[in-house]
Amino acid sequence: MKIGKHSVVSMHYTLKNQEGTVLDSSQGREPLVYLHGVGGLIPGLEFQLNDKIAGDKIKAVVEPKDAYGEISKDMLYEVPKSGFQGDEEIFEGMQVQLDTEHGPRLAVVSKIDGDKVTLDMNHPLAGVTLYFDVEIMNVREAEKEEISHGHVHGHGGHHH
Ligand code: ZN
Repeated sequence: MKIGKHSVVSMHYTLKNQEGTVLDSSQGREPLVYLHGVGGLIPGLEFQLNDKIAGDKIKAVVEPKDAYGEISKDMLYEVPKSGFQGDEEIFEGMQVQLDTEHGPRLAVVSKIDGDKVTLDMNHPLAGVTLYFDVEIMNVREAEKEEISHGHVHGHGGHHH
């Protein structure tokens, strides 16, 4: 059957950036299983999987606007270096955890200029064009219960 709304799709994928660096892959693991059409995947990838069938191998290029968004200057924050506690030396490229009103968030130290530290809270894949190699392993119709829950049952021992 073709992939459409409320198909349960299992697939292997490898995700690379423009330079060909592997960012993520299901190889050597169980295939990724997801419920199609409910926003379980990034929109640009889900769109390109419509109407595909088991056995199809797809190369999908997804622009940032259809993936994790563009890099936003609004997500850069300048803070004083003295605001960092502890003895740990901070350096550019370092990941730090911040306590925000939305709970703990990861940020990257993008620049240190004297006492001014710029923190970047963009998603690590913001601004990145994604290159997927996808192999569709299986397509089935979702059970009623899976549709009402909005996710797939019977994998990884998850049920509720
Ligand atoms: Zn459930």
